[in-house]
Amino acid sequence: SAKGMGRNNFQAYVAVPEESHQQRLALEAKLRQAEKNGELRVFYQPQIDGHTEDIVGMEALIRWEHPELGMISPGFFVPLAEESGLIITIGEWVLRAACRDARRWQQRFDLPLRVSVNLSALQLRQPNLVSLVEAVLEETGLDPRLLDLEVTESISMKTIPRLLETLHALRELGCAISIDDFGTGQSSLDYIRRFPADRIKIDQAFVRNIGIDPDDEAIVQATIVMAHNLNREVVAEGVEIEQHLDFLREQGCEVVQGFLFCRPIPAVSFENLLQERERLLGGRARAPSAPG
Ligand code: C2E
Ligand code: MG
Ligand code: MG
Ligand code: MG
Repeated sequence: SAKGMGRNNFQAYVAVPEESHQQRLALEAKLRQAEKNGELRVFYQPQIDGHTEDIVGMEALIRWEHPELGMISPGFFVPLAEESGLIITIGEWVLRAACRDARRWQQRFDLPLRVSVNLSALQLRQPNLVSLVEAVLEETGLDPRLLDLEVTESISMKTIPRLLETLHALRELGCAISIDDFGTGQSSLDYIRRFPADRIKIDQAFVRNIGIDPDDEAIVQATIVMAHNLNREVVAEGVEIEQHLDFLREQGCEVVQGFLFCRPIPAVSFENLLQERERLLGGRARAPSAPG
């Protein structure tokens, strides 16, 4: 009966958190060691110019290569890292690795690739975030204009002290700010207007439904128009099929990212990709002043 099911559900509900709390503590202890043991990896997913389809940048996405459990996705351990505060040291490690890699590729391939790094709410609460970013840029030699910091839309101005000041200060360093997962939070239009962002990343929840749901298409279309009228660039994430790309391109979306082009890949594979690109382009890749 429905009543019986309800009771079972209730039992499951009380049992699971008990168990997951134990697991969580164990996992948290392992995560604490992961950085020291060199188990964290930064993967990169290319960001592609919607028109030329050339690579213009990459998003740094963390992975945890656990010796027994294999590759663990950030959807699983980033929330844990946030709750435990570990995201502060992990986030700093990602930032440093991403800036170092971007600088190396910029020099090696003579290509001004912009690297996007995700910032968590806890990092944005750190009073020293701006000086940390400044120090990492100086240490790695990366042009600040090649660093893009992604801040998820659900981050609230109310709960993070001096959020706007922090974002303005990061932009004063020369970095770009992107609003990540756009459309999934509860932002008012006033919030979007005041949020000092250079780019808006349309969430894959909307992109996925291009060609399927006209309402989601309308939202994507309206978001692009609004972003452009507010002088923001648009990045679409979760571009999986040609139909998504065609629609986004038609609407004037500047940058696209998704499995249609490439999954997130290890740094070594990303470097191979850049090498292959250079080979395909031949001499043209190294002659920026040449016409065409
Ligand atoms: P996000 O920043 O919105 O990153 C985009 C996610 O979409 C990535 O998942 C990426 O692998 C996935 N994705 C890209 N293209 C496609 C596609 O075409 N189809 C589908 N289905 N998915 C696609 P991932 O790598 O598992 O990361 C999940 C989330 O974890 C990220 O979402 C971000 O919020 C968080 N995260 C990842 N790395 C970091 C980090 O270094 N720091 C922080 N604070 N958060 C991170
Ligand atoms: Mg992101
Ligand atoms: Mg996103
Ligand atoms: Mg997302």
